[in-house]
Amino acid sequence: MTKLLIIAIDGPAGSGKSTTAKALARRLAYNYLDTGALYRAMAWKMLMEEIDLNRASDVEQCCESLEIRLSLLGKATEVFVDGADVTPFLRRPEVTKAASVISALPCVRKKLLSIQRTIGEKGGIVAEGRDIGTVVFPGAEFKFFLDADISVRGNRRYQDLESAGVSSDPETTTKTVSARDLKDSSRLCAPLKRADDATLIDSTLLSAEEVVELMFQQIAPAIAPQ
Ligand code: C5P
Repeated sequence: MTKLLIIAIDGPAGSGKSTTAKALARRLAYNYLDTGALYRAMAWKMLMEEIDLNRASDVEQCCESLEIRLSLLGKATEVFVDGADVTPFLRRPEVTKAASVISALPCVRKKLLSIQRTIGEKGGIVAEGRDIGTVVFPGAEFKFFLDADISVRGNRRYQDLESAGVSSDPETTTKTVSARDLKDSSRLCAPLKRADDATLIDSTLLSAEEVVELMFQQIAPAIAPQ
């Protein structure tokens, strides 16, 4: 039997992580884990409970009481918080913004780290996020770091918002993406960065299919039947 691997894909917003990770998982018949959905779900709960993010004890209490469950089947990572499916709310702009703020808090990262590791412990998973190759699964068999020019990433995110029915404009979206990247890469706790042993893929001029093909070519020898 071939070994079930862990594939880590990290990168900034709009670099194409979700699209390629989903397609790669489908091709390998692996589970797909969108770790951003966990941060978004935690942010959603804090927004719903009107937690003041400056009050450390309230934030910690909210973290501890979070009862989160994921369904990895199907196209998206479905997230249930305290038993309710919160997936439809996770892409809202206010949740995106709050996710980036709370993801810098050590108690949040600690809580979500153990959940991610439990999900991935048996392998057979393509996990995407910001710290998968560096912190969550430093021993992942394959690590990729996706990047693309900021104008391309901003435009991709704008298209995502449009198709989700959220009104925006390319310029504002690009500025928002850029500000979020800066926050994610400059935080002290598990910042967005390329693991030393991750393969860098610049997707500026590549289609999602081409990126998946590049990844698959690297992985193929490891999953070929002996
Ligand atoms: O990937 P996505 O845009 O859904 O992530 C939302 C936010 O969650 C990111 O901006 C980042 O602050 C946080 N995040 C993180 N570490 C991860 C995944 C997401 O800090 N592994």
